[in-house]
Amino acid sequence: MSDLMQNVIEQYKDRLETRAVVQGRKAIEESIPTLRSLLGDGLWLVAVDDNTWNVAGKRLASALDVAGIRWERYDVPSPEGASEPLCDDATIARYADALRSVGATAGVAVGAGTINDVVKYACSGLKLPAACVATAPSMNGYTSTIAAILQDGVKTTQPCAAAIAVVADIDVLAESPMRMIQSGIGDLMSKPVSNSDWIVSAKLAGSHHSPEAMAIIEDGSRLLDGVAPLLPKRDRGAIDRLSASLMLSGFAMAVAGSSSPASGGEHLVSHYLDMTAYAHGLPHDFHGCQVAVGTLAAAHIYERILALDPSDINVEERVAQLQPWDAYRTLLEERFGVLYEAVLPHAKAGYPSPEQLGQRLTLLKRDWHQLMAAARRTLRTRQSIEDELQQAGCPVRFSEIGVKSRDRALESVAWAKDIRSRYTVLHLAWEIGGLDEWAEDAVSVLA
Ligand SMILES: [Zn+2]
Repeated sequence: MSDLMQNVIEQYKDRLETRAVVQGRKAIEESIPTLRSLLGDGLWLVAVDDNTWNVAGKRLASALDVAGIRWERYDVPSPEGASEPLCDDATIARYADALRSVGATAGVAVGAGTINDVVKYACSGLKLPAACVATAPSMNGYTSTIAAILQDGVKTTQPCAAAIAVVADIDVLAESPMRMIQSGIGDLMSKPVSNSDWIVSAKLAGSHHSPEAMAIIEDGSRLLDGVAPLLPKRDRGAIDRLSASLMLSGFAMAVAGSSSPASGGEHLVSHYLDMTAYAHGLPHDFHGCQVAVGTLAAAHIYERILALDPSDINVEERVAQLQPWDAYRTLLEERFGVLYEAVLPHAKAGYPSPEQLGQRLTLLKRDWHQLMAAARRTLRTRQSIEDELQQAGCPVRFSEIGVKSRDRALESVAWAKDIRSRYTVLHLAWEIGGLDEWAEDAVSVLA
């Protein structure tokens, strides 16, 4: 798998900051020469928590000692009352302070999404190289140029330099918590709908589309053939493929210069759940597990859209029904409460003027068959995605990801479009006038 990833790095070296992915059964030990050449000699500040220290940090530490590389341990603190660290501004600032105060020349993350994001974002700000030793195949952020950061209770994605090297030790990944493995495949299984969203938004909202990034995503997707049923057995070959597919997904985002290749309306459902969980002290699940359920909701909405007769879309009527922005803003205030201020700029950026709405719906009707055929090329049915997720043991219902209230499930589908302006199937469904009804029946199936 390392060869496959190295080929992509070579091919897109002008656009990728990651220079090496060392993946395999003894990757931690075997990565040391690569890490040394990319991070340089000096002092490395190795960020861990208790758990990641035990599963991978100790092995890395011994290998660094054997190689005579200077390093110091940094324990990423968890917020009060929490069992795991959180990637927020304060946590990033503390790690950045530690980098400065010890005179570190590089940062190394030993962990999954959170610790990786803390380290790469802090290092990016200080122009220091960062490497990551992955501890779970739980999401596609290891090779991405964005970090998910909680700011004022809102989960944001911020641009940053990618890790210059990523180490994926297959035995470490295979022994990670099963829920994190499920999260990884859940994140990738969003592809059928997120890629359709990308095609739709390129056509209807003029977003940038990158055929090269799409090709990388396709390569990664092919690696997953037959992988799902092997994951519950922690099959090393399947974990190897899952990990490579996640790395490629991150590369695709870096090549495209946005998260579009791997994130559409289904991700908004997950972000909505995260935001409301942090704001109101509600439970949430791993990113990819939430994305899996969001994907099924989005796939369901696509099925409803594909079944429409475009001549039934009445453009004048829809434009006439469009609420003035001020009235909609009042509605947002009621819906989002304490999160309103944070959501407002995103919602406003995504809210169409009557002219925009009219133009978009006219274009939609005119090019309906061509657009739906393009979306169909990547789409899959809700049932087929659900079957594959279930083979992997991945959650497929809101109740399985801690969303016990039907209202909260419904809101995550019907309201999530306002937390980010990038056009998705949720925006399309809303503009057609079907979102509330289709969210309602998606949740009837998926609650
Ligand atoms: Zn994701």
